[in-house]
Amino acid sequence: MPAKSIPIGLAYRDFWVDNGAMSLTDLLLLGQGQDLASERGVSCDGALPAASDPGLIQRAQDARAALGSRAMILGHHYQREEVIQFADITGDSFKLAQAAAENSSAEYVLFCGVHFMAESADILTTPEQKVILPDLAAGCSMADMASANQVDDCWQALQNLGIAQSTIPITYMNSTAAIKAFTGQNGGAVCTSSNAERAMAWAFTQGEKILFLPDQHLGRNTAVLKLGLKLSDCVLWNPWKPQGGLTAEEIRSAKVILWRGHCSVHGRFTLSNIEQMRARVPGVQILVHPECQHEVVSNADVVGSTEMIIKTIADSPSGSTWAVGTELNLVSRLAARFPDRRVLFLDKTVCYCSTMNRIDLPHLVWAMESLVAGRLVNRIQVEAETAKYAKVALERMLALP
Ligand code: SF4
Repeated sequence: MPAKSIPIGLAYRDFWVDNGAMSLTDLLLLGQGQDLASERGVSCDGALPAASDPGLIQRAQDARAALGSRAMILGHHYQREEVIQFADITGDSFKLAQAAAENSSAEYVLFCGVHFMAESADILTTPEQKVILPDLAAGCSMADMASANQVDDCWQALQNLGIAQSTIPITYMNSTAAIKAFTGQNGGAVCTSSNAERAMAWAFTQGEKILFLPDQHLGRNTAVLKLGLKLSDCVLWNPWKPQGGLTAEEIRSAKVILWRGHCSVHGRFTLSNIEQMRARVPGVQILVHPECQHEVVSNADVVGSTEMIIKTIADSPSGSTWAVGTELNLVSRLAARFPDRRVLFLDKTVCYCSTMNRIDLPHLVWAMESLVAGRLVNRIQVEAETAKYAKVALERMLALP
């Protein structure tokens, strides 16, 4: 029997989604277990308000007012509307990290985003400030694709080949604090989707080769489309295979060693999505994030970070038509914000970041009311030695030429 179809969000003015496409099993499994070292985190303790509570918004407003300037709420662009309406500052991971670093007075930083972002905020805030993640199960599947042990094994392999000293690690912001610390300890820098080109160009002034972690697509797209390298200059390190599944010669001759990680949201967009969209919507412009696959990025009209996607739509003329390849909450928000432009979602099926969506209004209310009651909950605190070296890599990014 065909699954029932439901319309969701303004971005779906032209498309319907099959409600069987969402894996509730995946959502339910996340958050179980007690793996504090993982981006998966743990599930929230305590009695959460019911999502159906008609007084939830009022409770959120009351708790927010009670916390006043003691709290700052940061909201990532991929967050739900019900949460983002309470954010003091919205932004991508880089902008929110900067906002955390610039506010040294708020006692609590409530981070409506995912675990690695809250870690970066903890590293960049003062020791007295406390960073709170309303749901500890809000992780990032991409960050989980590079564990500290796997990266250590890779580095050991490069040392065995005698090339580690001429290899500079560049680590995407979307990584655990442990991987950022590895990067800081080994002469590398963190990067974001908006400064990856500068970070990689800088790395080539420091060494001969780059180890790019953990997003293969951002690394490949930047190396080939921004720095002019060839696809054959890049090799893919598979952490599940001995020596990354590569020969010594392949590793030695590569200019960029890409870690085999990807974003489960942006990795879904395909060339076929673009072809179908162009066929059915004349004049559409394709706007995608650089975490998308190389053939998608290569065939798009505009490629840019989350902040650049927002700016591109905002600066576009009335009447223009865009098909956007990024997280659906943001695309829906852009469609609602710019009703005189036609903003479509590039894929036909649902494409929320399931872990970002763990942060909902009940969790935010629970976290704020707990703080009001004097209970510190869900604090994200990076261990001191890890934080020290991760900060080195973050500060190298902030100082990029
Ligand atoms: S959108 Fe992708 S990179 Fe961002 S938090 Fe979700 S899984 Fe991670």
